[in-house]
Amino acid sequence: MLRRCVRRKIRSVSKQQPSSATAPPLGDMTSDEFRRYGHELVDWIADYFDHIEELPVLAPVEPGELKSKLPSAPPEKGEPMESIIKDIDRLIVPAVTHWCHPSFFAYFATSTSGPGILGELLTAAFDNKGILWRTSPASAELEEVALEWLRQMMGLDAGMTGIIYDTASVSSMHAIAAAREGVEQRIREEGMSGRPDLPLLCVYISEHAHSSIEKGVITLGLGQRGLRKIPTDKDFRMDPNALAAAIEEDKRNGFIPFCIVATVGTTSTSSIDPVKEIVPICEEHTMWLHVDAAYAGSAAVVPELRYILDGCQRADSIVVNPHKWLFTPFDCSVLYTRHMDLLGRAFSLVPEYLRTPEQANVRSGSDYGIQLGRRFRALKLWMVIRYFGHEGLAARIREHCRLARLFASWIQESPQWELMAPTPLALVCFRACPTIEGEPEEIRSKRLDALNEAIMHGVNATGKALFSHTKLNDKLTLRLSIGNIRTTERHVRQVWELMNEQLGLLENLR
Ligand code: PLP
Repeated sequence: MLRRCVRRKIRSVSKQQPSSATAPPLGDMTSDEFRRYGHELVDWIADYFDHIEELPVLAPVEPGELKSKLPSAPPEKGEPMESIIKDIDRLIVPAVTHWCHPSFFAYFATSTSGPGILGELLTAAFDNKGILWRTSPASAELEEVALEWLRQMMGLDAGMTGIIYDTASVSSMHAIAAAREGVEQRIREEGMSGRPDLPLLCVYISEHAHSSIEKGVITLGLGQRGLRKIPTDKDFRMDPNALAAAIEEDKRNGFIPFCIVATVGTTSTSSIDPVKEIVPICEEHTMWLHVDAAYAGSAAVVPELRYILDGCQRADSIVVNPHKWLFTPFDCSVLYTRHMDLLGRAFSLVPEYLRTPEQANVRSGSDYGIQLGRRFRALKLWMVIRYFGHEGLAARIREHCRLARLFASWIQESPQWELMAPTPLALVCFRACPTIEGEPEEIRSKRLDALNEAIMHGVNATGKALFSHTKLNDKLTLRLSIGNIRTTERHVRQVWELMNEQLGLLENLR
């Protein structure tokens, strides 16, 4: 339906004759051709958003289906844009899972936005490689400006300086690398392997921390042996007493506890670790405090939600992903730290061919990470912030939280459903829990896991909505995440109806 509609739109925009022109023998596409297909594709995108609800949220394809429809070898000769665009409609769109669909409620629901897409377009056109300040002064300086704006909107401490990476996984890995540099064990120079003089370096996370932290620890050669997973309380928040005890024990064993990673907005439930209580533990043991606020950090732009970052003002670093909940297209992750010097010490390496006269007086992104060339990601973020403004961004996130509270209230009011975790932001954790008189607990537990999984797959298979699951206290738990710029109350009501329909169908089959 949409495919036909998009094609019609493209044809109607293209008043000119269809062109069979392919690439010229040398040089780029002509500017006339670029203008023509550029306009058509922008129209295509506008139409895609207008009609996105007609598409199934989850791509209804089997593994390998797209690959089997595409040639296994590249074309010898260039092909006309018409046939490329036709294949986007015919082959690519059906294999896309539509994250921008307003009924996408899975994982952490996120979406791009008009100004963000236009920013990406310009980034691709400039194709700047932010290696040094001089290879892209605009990228270097706009990054500083946009991140200072975001810092102010989030109410972070003025001592925090930001830098953009691609993802939170990479931001956190860099934060832990900077923390490791601060341990003063000459790791940059001598490495970690084969060193009997180097005690085990320990990193502390809650058992609900994101897997990216563990991956960062592995990547940095710290080893899973050096990672401590601290238990959480009934609301899935790190237990500070257990944290303090684990650090004490590691110290008694001669290890070096050097970094605590607290999470503000865990992936399973959006729980918020008690950072205020963790800060004194960090201070007592002179440890680095990194805060993973990849998802929830954006919510701090809402004045009444700023409390979620209580204590984070004193953190050594904090990551927030504008590509998660700030309507900025993937990818864009921001690491704030008060120790850019340590980040530089860990990563700066300037060979002769990159030496410049101004290097002492400017900021070059490649000094603060493993990448040499960096994309001009600040442009889209700056355009998003300017277009929506602080108030506009806050209003959208506030509305998502309202919708989540509304959905949670329906769960609470129904005897057939139950909440599985608090709803501090815009993620609801819940499950269906119809009772059977006299059923033993062990059987009930297995039955409810199977029932909830079937509800999820049943709703997702309709193509009308998509949500995902986790396990909490060993119970299969459904997650409804609201974070898409197009999601309204209508979409939330619809998914609630779909869930109840599935529950009814499955209960009738019993
Ligand atoms: N941290 C948290 C709390 C997350 O929820 C996620 C992803 O959902 C990540 C980190 C990883 O994010 P990214 O995909 O940007 O690496």
